[in-house]
Amino acid sequence: MKTGVAVYQGVDGAYSQLVLEHFLRERGIGASTLGVPSYRELVTALSSLRADVGVIPIENAIGGTVREAYDLIAEFELAPWAEILWRTDHRLLGVRGATLRDVREVLAHPLVIAECGKFLSGLEHARAIPCEDTGVAAREVARSGSPSIAALAPPSAAAIYDLVELAAHCADHPATYSRFLIVGPQHAAPNDALGAARTGARRKTSLIFAVEERTGSLAHCLSILAEHGINGDKLESKPYLGHGSERIFYVDFDGDVRDENVAEALAELKAACKALSVLGSYDAHIGEPIGANEVVVRPSLERVPERRTLEPIVPPAESPFPRVARRTKPEGTVLRIGGVRIGDGEFVVIAGPCSIESREQILETAREVRARGAVMLRGGAFKPRTSPYAFQGLGWEGVTMLAEAGRASGLPTVSEVMTTDQVARMAEQVDVLQIGARNMQNFDLLKAVGRAGRPVLLKRGLSATIDELLAAAEYVLAEGNPNVMLCERGIRTFEPATRNTLDLSAVPVLRERSHLPVLVDPSHGVGVRRWIRPLCRAAKAVGAHGLLVEVHPNPAEAKSDKEQALTFDDFSEIIADLERIPIVETTFAR
Ligand code: PEP
Ligand code: MN
Repeated sequence: MKTGVAVYQGVDGAYSQLVLEHFLRERGIGASTLGVPSYRELVTALSSLRADVGVIPIENAIGGTVREAYDLIAEFELAPWAEILWRTDHRLLGVRGATLRDVREVLAHPLVIAECGKFLSGLEHARAIPCEDTGVAAREVARSGSPSIAALAPPSAAAIYDLVELAAHCADHPATYSRFLIVGPQHAAPNDALGAARTGARRKTSLIFAVEERTGSLAHCLSILAEHGINGDKLESKPYLGHGSERIFYVDFDGDVRDENVAEALAELKAACKALSVLGSYDAHIGEPIGANEVVVRPSLERVPERRTLEPIVPPAESPFPRVARRTKPEGTVLRIGGVRIGDGEFVVIAGPCSIESREQILETAREVRARGAVMLRGGAFKPRTSPYAFQGLGWEGVTMLAEAGRASGLPTVSEVMTTDQVARMAEQVDVLQIGARNMQNFDLLKAVGRAGRPVLLKRGLSATIDELLAAAEYVLAEGNPNVMLCERGIRTFEPATRNTLDLSAVPVLRERSHLPVLVDPSHGVGVRRWIRPLCRAAKAVGAHGLLVEVHPNPAEAKSDKEQALTFDDFSEIIADLERIPIVETTFAR
């Protein structure tokens, strides 16, 4: 059997991982499983053929349809293979020695919080904290080592993270389950070596459609299905944004698109509705949901496989960096990091200390900069220092502190990686990987972050030209990672008055040449506290998408870059200034 790469969203211990491993085992498919940080990265890995098969949750018994999953399957034109109903069995897991009475915080996926409402309200002193997935919840409890923090997660996560069960069967309803879809790239016929279709299996089809806003139009669409003897299984709707009060409908029904009656019905439906997207047909789950007692204990797998050369990278002839070139994507790239959008007409401010120095320092900074208007938290744990005797950063300990501060404040985090072997571990803990000026042309590092599945903040090298910066970004995109933001942070010139010369002319040039968002870092650009404020204003006025600035609770005590560290009050003044400067609206359709 061919060996492949199977992807799920989350980290070891997530329900998705259990479902995926069950599927692979049941079908005798030899694939290594790999957790990725988001659904979007999962579908990107599949559509770029870096993975062969993946799992995505599509419905929760309480939360209903996971519409994002349907939308992504449609957008990336993936092929659904099979449906799995999985009985989720939430347990409260804590560190060894903890008791139920110690628990003050319960980390859990938002849908799990919804499913365990009664149980959680019975925990007198504890509050629930949403977390991206159940694996992460369990992992964070283990990392915290604290008896006051617990996670709602499957029993298998206890074994993976050496946790103990403080309470069993925490869901309000004992029969709670979720629906998952196994999906693959469109090109891979479901019957090939990795394929899924079982002969004789009951088949289901999923689709998304929108109807005109007219009396009876939905009923008409549904009657087409009924007239062709098709049994509908599920119908849900959401607003069709940008189309008045029209709505989009998510429908599942029995049958396969290759069945004659289904093919006819779909042809009629296409004519009757405003937009129709058929996700595809797949093996239906038969019988009761499965999986409550499934236990998978496995060592952490390497996060990102080597690119398998299914499709060679073909550089188009006209441009030396085609993937980053503006004409490839005239509308511009928008990065979505947590709830933050960069490149989307909003001006964003990323702030935090040069170096993470202590838990208190980063927690305080996170809280303050958030309250004053930052949308993302920066902090260096691995510091590229000119002198080997200067403070080199707290390393992984610092990264853990940054991650905690990010969770506590709700701010996504960014931190620098200096070597390829730091990339996978950093990608597990922070939201954005920074490539520092000194490493802008470390090509192995660029390739590694290109495969890490996290957005990248790429700083311009100390003596790099604008085109060299773009060529460096091209390395990251060529590895399959489209989520790059460029950062002008000052270059070396003959002028010694400022630490570097902040090249603001790079902003319009970069925006014209590339579709990637452009940030400006005036802190490293000028290196002198009092000159940072005017340059922040200038950066917004010249058309940057955002700023990266260094802020410290007590600049005089900063362990690195103290001359350029802003106080919290300096930072507030800058934010107030920025509010008075309009965003530059420019279109660059070239
Ligand atoms: C930093 O942002 O912490 C940093 C070291 O910046 P640069 O790589 O631009 O010098
Ligand atoms: Mn710095």
